[in-house]
Amino acid sequence: MNIIIFGPPGAGKGTQAKHLVKKLDSFQVSTGDMLREEINNDTEIGKKIVSNMNEGKFVDDVIVNKLLEKIIFDPNKVNRLIFDGYPRTISQAKNLDNLLDQSNQKINFVFFLNVEKETIIKRIKKRKILEKRLDDNTDTILKRYDTYMKITKPVLDYYLKNQNFYEVDGSMNKEKIAQKIEEILKV
Ligand code: ADP
Repeated sequence: MNIIIFGPPGAGKGTQAKHLVKKLDSFQVSTGDMLREEINNDTEIGKKIVSNMNEGKFVDDVIVNKLLEKIIFDPNKVNRLIFDGYPRTISQAKNLDNLLDQSNQKINFVFFLNVEKETIIKRIKKRKILEKRLDDNTDTILKRYDTYMKITKPVLDYYLKNQNFYEVDGSMNKEKIAQKIEEILKV
């Protein structure tokens, strides 16, 4: 089973993805985590993306798509992928479909965690204290939210026609959200 967790920054995608990874013995595909790792390891990619990441701008599709390829074709991970933070653009959604086609896979469920802007801002401010992410300051949060509304939210239309698309109220606490998702997945 391959699953996409979709939603604005701070919706709780990572939290739910981690929970599902344990529950379903699968793998989290967080492009944000993968990109942060490149920066922490000071790789060539890391050097290229650090300023965009810290300013809350998207990283170039070519770089993100390349990171993704390795995972999709990994035989250990086939049909055990939980996507969190990817796709974020229509072009990434199309790229994902192509890669899944090539590896005989598909997306089985899409969960949209819907949360209001005010809740997101409160949550990310709290996360900044816990995780010390450089992109979690107020200016950057607002910019990331605007980018989400303009560029990422339209990706939803791409998945709406999918009968396994579910909207979940992301303002609930994490246990309730997890419970809702599990009910739908019947796990
Ligand atoms: P959040 O969902 O709170 O924005 P992420 O960890 O998913 O947190 O993403 C952090 C940053 O990483 C984004 O603001 C962006 O700079 C970069 N990033 C993550 N995923 C992608 C992606 N699929 N395409 C482009 N940039 C990405």
